[in-house]
Amino acid sequence: MTLQIGTNWAGNLAYTAERIIAPANVHEVRDALSGVRRARAVGSRHSFNDIADTSGLLISTERLTESPVVDAERRTVRAGAGTRYGDLGAHLQREGWALSNLASLPHISVAGAIATGTHGSGDRIGSLASAVAALEFVTAAGETVTLRRGDADFEGAVVSLGALGIVTHVTLDIEPTFQIAQHVFEELPLQTLIESFDAVTASGYSVSSFTTWRTPETIDQVWVKHRKDAAVPTPTALFDARPATVDHHPLPGQTAESCTPQLGVAGAWVDRLPHFVLGFTPSNGDELQTEYLVPRDRIGDALRVVRDQAGAVAPLLQVNEIRTVAGDELWLSPSHSTDVVGLHFTWLSRQPEVERVLVDLEEGLLPLGARPHWGKLFAADREALRRAYPRLDDFTALAERYDPEHVFRNAYLDRILG
Ligand SMILES: Cc1cc2nc3c(=O)[nH]c(=O)nc-3n(C[C@H](O)[C@H](O)[C@H](O)COP(=O)(O)OP(=O)(O)OC[C@H]3O[C@@H](n4cnc5c(N)ncnc54)[C@H](O)[C@@H]3O)c2cc1C
Repeated sequence: MTLQIGTNWAGNLAYTAERIIAPANVHEVRDALSGVRRARAVGSRHSFNDIADTSGLLISTERLTESPVVDAERRTVRAGAGTRYGDLGAHLQREGWALSNLASLPHISVAGAIATGTHGSGDRIGSLASAVAALEFVTAAGETVTLRRGDADFEGAVVSLGALGIVTHVTLDIEPTFQIAQHVFEELPLQTLIESFDAVTASGYSVSSFTTWRTPETIDQVWVKHRKDAAVPTPTALFDARPATVDHHPLPGQTAESCTPQLGVAGAWVDRLPHFVLGFTPSNGDELQTEYLVPRDRIGDALRVVRDQAGAVAPLLQVNEIRTVAGDELWLSPSHSTDVVGLHFTWLSRQPEVERVLVDLEEGLLPLGARPHWGKLFAADREALRRAYPRLDDFTALAERYDPEHVFRNAYLDRILG
């Protein structure tokens, strides 16, 4: 197998690594790290910035995909770090189990998603990292470390930005499998979303609102993922919004064939929680992304900030997605110690213009307590990030302890950790 150093998924970043390897097990990871000055793990390459880059050795996790092992008694599954959520989900579904949540696409690797605090949507569901029960990683010194929930360093080490070591296995919480039906509603007035935010996001197990801000007073689509075993009734109406009569793609004008089925057709959690089907490329790849996670009680103000900048935002935007995430205690989690709402922007691939808009957006959003998503584009500098992420200095100290020689440091971490 010839490995290419290549680019990230979006193609906006060419990795600057000297070489790349793909170890198949923990021994090969340890051997790879022996004597190396700089190294970094790369998962499925879905981040939009240089977080996974290195000037030295890129360690691809694409072969760290050994078959997942379910522990029915403890209700956990142990998976290889490079396993894609879609593959893990299919395995769990075959055995009658489920994860409580997934991100919008199933193509991302488990360890890569967890390292950046990746999340889906749901008032009472935490980020994907919050499902981590244990983490195994190899340090630059070749030591294998296992941290379990409750261990002293655990809360600092889960959302790791790849700074502590190469994660080889992750153990995640599971629950018995369940069914979901998706219902899409069109044209919800923005004012209704602001005034009745809690009612809208509580209308399903996992709710995502999509809008292009081209008609700033209207939210284009609301996707309600209804858990069939839930006590709440099937959502047949959503305020003044119109129930959709055909399947939709979140991006206007795109065919729904890459999307998971809607119109209330029930299916397994793994085939409904992501918006996109594993067998399809999630979108054309010609996009950039940004996301700000805003404390839930400031969402009205945050939506007004974006609406007021719609004139600058809309021409560069493919779609904006609004999702909720339950709080957790993980130090670098964007939902650390508070429930948050994610304002996610899928941009056109016009990076210099997007980066100019981000400065203005952050001027409005960061004072509200917004936290940038670690794996997407943002403008915030270290000082702004320290204000947004109160445990950032503690994390820097933790990274110093596990990686005193700075083997896993890269330009991104130098900017963020100082
Ligand atoms: C189309 C698309 C849709 C997306 N949807 C969502 C979404 O719904 N919600 C959301 O929150 N985000 C979303 N993202 C962002 C994405 O989930 C994150 O960028 C995530 O980190 C990607 O995982 P990856 O495996 O590609 O990681 P990479 O981009 O390859 O790496 C990300 C980080 O993880 C580290 N890492 C990877 N593997 C390991 C390992 N084994 N050990 C240690 N460190 C490791 C890398 O060093 C790097 O720091 C989306 C991205 C795209 C392109």
